[in-house]
Amino acid sequence: MRLAPLALIPFATAASAEAPRVVVDVAPVHSLVAQVMAGVGAPELLLDGSVSPHGWSMRPAQAALLESAGVVVWTGPGLTPALEDAVGTLAPDAASVELVAGEGHEDHEDHDHDHGEEEAGHDDHAEGEHDHHAHAADIHFWLDPIESAEKVAAIAAALAEADPTNAAAYAANAEAAAADLTALDREMAVALAPLRGMAWVTAHDAWAPLVVRYGLEEPAAIHVSATGDPGAARMAELREVAAGAACAVTEPQEPARLMETVLEGTEVVQVVADPLGADVPVGPGHHAATLRAVAAALAGCVE
Ligand SMILES: [Zn+2]
Repeated sequence: MRLAPLALIPFATAASAEAPRVVVDVAPVHSLVAQVMAGVGAPELLLDGSVSPHGWSMRPAQAALLESAGVVVWTGPGLTPALEDAVGTLAPDAASVELVAGEGHEDHEDHDHDHGEEEAGHDDHAEGEHDHHAHAADIHFWLDPIESAEKVAAIAAALAEADPTNAAAYAANAEAAAADLTALDREMAVALAPLRGMAWVTAHDAWAPLVVRYGLEEPAAIHVSATGDPGAARMAELREVAAGAACAVTEPQEPARLMETVLEGTEVVQVVADPLGADVPVGPGHHAATLRAVAAALAGCVE
C-alpha cells in the first residue's frame, strides 16, 4: 500500500508533487478519499477489513504509517476509538479530518438534517452520555450514498486547505463523485425496496444509515458497536425477536457464536453482509462495490 516515490510514477504532474501524504482509517472511506484525490495522488489505508474497527488496536507498522501522515482522514472515535488519542500523539502536525464527531456534540448539528426523525428520540442522551449508539445513524455513514456525497465535499474542502495547489482538482473530483453517489443511491433504493417492512436481526448496529435512507425496519442488533457481549436478559429478548424475524444478517468481522445462540431453533434466513467490504479490492471503486455487495447480500433475505 506504500506509495512509490513520486519520481517513479509516470505522468506525475508538477501539481501532484505538492500532494500531502493522506492516511485514511477504513477501506470504504479510503475509497471516497481516493476518488477526491484522483489524478493528484493516492491515499494510504490504515486498517484492512479483517477486524472490527471498534475493537482494533494499532500495530507498529500502522503507527509508523500514521506518523508519516500529512493529513489523517478518519471517521471518528465512534468507529475507531483507538485513533482518538493516536492521531494527536503520533501525527501532531498532521491535519486531522474527523468526519463524524463521535464524542462531543459540537459538530453534530451538521448531521442532523438528514436524520431528523432519528435525532428526535435521542433526548435521553443529551446529558453527558455520548455513546456510540447515540450516533449510530452517522458513524457508519458510508453505507448511505447521499451522506457519503456530503462527506466527499467535506473531504475535498479539507484537502484543499492542506494542499491549496490541487484545490481545483479536489473540487472537480468531489463533484464527479457526488454525481456517481446520487446514481448509486437510486440503485440502492431499488435494490432495497423489497426489504421494507421486514423484521431482522443483525450482528451489530452498522446498518442504521440504510434503515434511515431506505425506510427499512430498525433491526435488533446483538452488538451495539463498542459495547461488550449482551447479557442474559438481552439475549433472551433477542431470541424472542429472532423467532419472529424474516432475516438474520451476520458480518465477517463479528463472531458467529452469539448469532447461532440467538437463532437456535428458528428457521430464520441467514445472510452475510460486509459493511467494510473486506474482500473488495481497495481503491476508488471500493465504496460502490461494497454497497452493491451489501445490497445483493440483503436481497437474499427476501428471495
Ligand atoms: Zn460498527
